[in-house]
Amino acid sequence: MTQTLLRFSLLIGGESVEAASGKTYDSTDPFTGSAWAQVPDGGKADIDRAVQAARDALNGPWGQLTATARGKLLWKLGDVIAREAENLAELEVRDGGKLLREMSGQMKGLPEYYYYYAGMADKLEGAVIPTDKPNYLVYTKHEPVGVVGAITPWNSPLLLLAWKLAAGLAAGCTFVVKPSDYTPTSTLAFASLLEEAGFPPGVINVVTGWGPETGAALAAHPGVDKIAFTGSTGTGIKVGQAALQNMTRFTLELGGKSAQVVFPDADLDAAANGVISGIFAATGQTCLAGSRLLVHESVADELVQKIVDRASTIVVGDPKDPRTEMGPVSNEPQYQKVLSHFASAREQGATIAYGAEPVEELGGYFVKPTVLTGVTSDMRAVSEEIFGPVLVVSTFSDEEEAIAEANGTEFGLAGAVWTKDVHRAHRVAAKLRAGTIWVNAYRAVSPSVPFGGMGSSGIGRENGIDAVKDFTETKAIWVELTGNTRDPFTLG
Ligand code: NAD
Repeated sequence: MTQTLLRFSLLIGGESVEAASGKTYDSTDPFTGSAWAQVPDGGKADIDRAVQAARDALNGPWGQLTATARGKLLWKLGDVIAREAENLAELEVRDGGKLLREMSGQMKGLPEYYYYYAGMADKLEGAVIPTDKPNYLVYTKHEPVGVVGAITPWNSPLLLLAWKLAAGLAAGCTFVVKPSDYTPTSTLAFASLLEEAGFPPGVINVVTGWGPETGAALAAHPGVDKIAFTGSTGTGIKVGQAALQNMTRFTLELGGKSAQVVFPDADLDAAANGVISGIFAATGQTCLAGSRLLVHESVADELVQKIVDRASTIVVGDPKDPRTEMGPVSNEPQYQKVLSHFASAREQGATIAYGAEPVEELGGYFVKPTVLTGVTSDMRAVSEEIFGPVLVVSTFSDEEEAIAEANGTEFGLAGAVWTKDVHRAHRVAAKLRAGTIWVNAYRAVSPSVPFGGMGSSGIGRENGIDAVKDFTETKAIWVELTGNTRDPFTLG
């Protein structure tokens, strides 16, 4: 029996439209492995139109709104999202295979990002700056950077879009959004809510399509003033290079290989639970996954046993079933990537403490939660971001060694310290090279807390007060106060 596919449209200039080429492609449900929706296969022509629509909105009705009015629209958008949270969550589950209970929670929390930045829209104050020049009044303004291209990955499409959109709209920018090829539908459904929330046409435009064509066309577009990108480090580098050709500003939220460092005085049950949440929740498909466990040698066997015991009881299956704890890997290429890591871990001599195999009887793209011990730094599973439910475990004998090993990676997105010693907790947190460190916790984020990476994990921060400034240009205005002329051949 052929299933009818749900159909979605692009949003350009406030209108639901097909791709200029008329082409579409199918989105696959990773639980069934079958197509379930059809989306426009947008290309350069659609990106061109969307960028123009965003520019027109910026120069037109959106640019004329007061900051307070922008804030009210953001608040209203939050309300509309709250009402639609369950629908949006279901779309993300169909496209991406994440647990419905996780995505429901994420969608219910999504309005908070819009509310947080709604309040900030009319608090983006400049300053009157004292100078060494007595004859001038000098003040600054934070003007919107302009048209922003937002490119998002497949693992949490609307959450990671909110991290860009809410701050950028508060600052007065307009947007062209290119969601992941694999999870386009929730962003297209979200776009259909903008009119009801009261946004003028063209403020937010959404073009779906493939990364190397549609995404690349957006990153390289001379009409875009800033790119806000979340995705892998390899793609982020290409996006940054393309943007730089036009002097387009960019922020990059990229991959990670985050370490959870467990000291011998830690509550081992809590640490085991934190490790499970860090690497097996969301099937390990999160940028902040705690994919490396560094544990003191004196408690390593005990902690690994606790983790393996829990991993072996993780319920793998239908992401919509409330009992399921781990859904499928999100798409076919990612599934193949995880399987290739299983093979190379075996070839390179890692000890398989648990897992490292697919769960074929479920169909779809299922794998077992995996724990690898006896690993060395030259193994692929240790150095590369897998973006799957694969934990690599190594041991240390003292604090210095733990810090050196935790920092022995090109990435620097997140990490955790597990200890009851308050001195050690702060000392080690200060020395770990990563944008977020949790102490005796893992996997908590908030609209008010900056998030982003060091090293190969990215450039810039999203969320928090400062993120909004990344969507602005600071202008300094000098006003001469005396009305006199002065020597034209001297400075100031
Ligand atoms: P990806 O880099 O393959 O794709 C990300 C986006 O870029 C997609 O929309 C894709 O279509 C687009 N794209 C691909 N090629 C492009 C090109 N040449 N030019 C412009 N755009 C292009 O990443 P993914 O597989 O979708 O997502 C997983 C990655 O995202 C992981 O590395 C993960 O760590 C990272 N991530 C980072 C964060 C963070 O906040 N730091 C959050 C979530 C995910």
